[in-house]
Amino acid sequence: MYSQEELSRLCHQIHQYPEPGWCEFVTTARLVKHLMPMGLEVLTGTKIINPKYVAGRNLEQVNLFLEKAREYGVSELELKSFEDYTGCVAILKTGRPGPVLAIRCDIDCVEVSESTDPQHRPAKEGWASQNEGCMHSCGHDAHQTIGIGLCSWLADHRDELCGTIKVLFQPAEEGVRGARPMAESGILDDVDYFFASHIGIDVPTGKISAHPGCFLASKKLDAVFTGKASHAGANAERGRNALLAASTAALAVTAIARHGQGRSAVNVGTLHAGEGRNVIASTAKLQLEVRGETEEINSYMYEEAVRRLEGAATMYGCTLEILPQGEATEFNPDEKAILLAEEVANEIVGKENTARLHQPMGSEDATIMLKRVQSHGGIGTYLLFGSDLKAGHHQNLFDFDEKVIGIALRFYEALVSKISGVK
Ligand SMILES: [Zn+2]
Repeated sequence: MYSQEELSRLCHQIHQYPEPGWCEFVTTARLVKHLMPMGLEVLTGTKIINPKYVAGRNLEQVNLFLEKAREYGVSELELKSFEDYTGCVAILKTGRPGPVLAIRCDIDCVEVSESTDPQHRPAKEGWASQNEGCMHSCGHDAHQTIGIGLCSWLADHRDELCGTIKVLFQPAEEGVRGARPMAESGILDDVDYFFASHIGIDVPTGKISAHPGCFLASKKLDAVFTGKASHAGANAERGRNALLAASTAALAVTAIARHGQGRSAVNVGTLHAGEGRNVIASTAKLQLEVRGETEEINSYMYEEAVRRLEGAATMYGCTLEILPQGEATEFNPDEKAILLAEEVANEIVGKENTARLHQPMGSEDATIMLKRVQSHGGIGTYLLFGSDLKAGHHQNLFDFDEKVIGIALRFYEALVSKISGVK
């Protein structure tokens, strides 16, 4: 088992080498290096990722980080075992009958450049990001550390446990990309209990919530318009203007009427189009997303968006290609799982520090995993572990109170004992 100090050191090591979604090669190699010697079964590659459902994977970026991983010292043999995909699952099969419990930790970073401000703790103490443009500014370094700590505890307590325990180290949570292909691998299809968690999120250190609030279902997509170039002065009539199709679509999509049954959101984040001032633009690309409080509202937003995109393409005689980039579903935690987690939280931080929250949250693709588990009769919820933050999530000065690592770990150890302890 790891001491608090060792966990802190490990977390700093992870922090120093952040990798974006689908590029976590060094990260996965480090996880495997820690987990293998514990005597757990460790699965990687297509055993845990169904390539058919992989979205939002930038091949150019993947190849860049593969090259960096080789330079970092990850061997060809290791990379081959990943089959081009990142993430891993550690499994403890106790050999005794009992439930299957799964805990999910995400491992990717945010594409933000870490602050070099000498007051910023990672910079001051010499463990700031070494990957320009990448930073663990959401706390997924802590999530991995908690996962590794838990695996080591599982290995040490295997004689006191029954059933099967799986710890999922999920790639590409940012952009809600990694959960669907992991769920579609079938790795969750025998799971009875499922828990995922996040540190921070405006909850102070020492507090735990087994019901954080409302996650929004979401779909992310790229819309690519293809028209026809022509001379803007001489024969504009021969062109097909993709820039105008995309701009019309951007306005129309943003003007979708809001659903009366709950929260919804839509955003066109980028529009890139055209080649030159005097050329009818033949290409344009929009990056957009829709969200909804329920799957029904999200589907409504998505279908309306697609109709407007198609309409705009037709209007300007362009063709349209829609490329899915990520997704999350609605959040419906199970009361029984919440109560179970709250009982454990009461033991660890006291009843006064255990509360259900009603935070308006963004989206989380762990919801897809939870839904998959629920679809065959399993239960689960999503936990928040409070941690005082120096700056908010995704900011370049993000820094959290590391006490949360010990608290989350003690919580998970007690939760595993409660669900999978030999009775
Ligand atoms: Zn996060």
